[in-house]
Amino acid sequence: MTRGLGDALRWVEAGTELCAEVIDGLADGQFEERSGLPGWDRAHVVAHLAANAAALRNLARWASSGEETPMYSSPNQRTADIATGATRPPWELRSWLHREATALADDLAALTREQWRHPVRTAQGREVPASEIPWLRAREVMVHAVDVGPGLTFADLPQDFLAALSDDITAKRGAATVPPIVGTLADRTAYLAGRGSAGVTSASGGPAPDLPPWL
Ligand code: ZN
Repeated sequence: MTRGLGDALRWVEAGTELCAEVIDGLADGQFEERSGLPGWDRAHVVAHLAANAAALRNLARWASSGEETPMYSSPNQRTADIATGATRPPWELRSWLHREATALADDLAALTREQWRHPVRTAQGREVPASEIPWLRAREVMVHAVDVGPGLTFADLPQDFLAALSDDITAKRGAATVPPIVGTLADRTAYLAGRGSAGVTSASGGPAPDLPPWL
């Protein structure tokens, strides 16, 4: 599907609300439990969500000031920030995420038509217009809400978002590495995101080979 800036901004808002709802509802002890992201507990995912908002605020600043401010100062900073952040107590993780998410929304709301077109660089080194920042954030808040939300699945995310995410991941992974698969849009998108192959089969009816985690 073709997504516009308005779609991405709407998904950021919905995903941010979903994250807040899920994370505020977690018992403190659940922060140390495994998330849906292989190898990460919930505290790490929440720290990553907060640090990602801060990193994307750097891109918003880049677009508004014209001065190059990368998402992260070094390749190791992202990992280090998450590792340190995850040691914070649950109440602090909740308020850190809330603070950064609100600040990011304010920063994005302040961008002018001209500034949305300003080129910035993603953490993967791709040059994109600032109007891609909301999409980068929408993917994070939606997918990680499912990773940390007890009982949440991709089927709880908006269908139009799933269609856009499925297209995005297929394009980024490269059509050659993504086998033809059969399943509901939600199950196929979860599979493409590397969140297991429940509900998905290969086009021939056999099991679909696992894909590594995305995001
Ligand atoms: Zn992520």
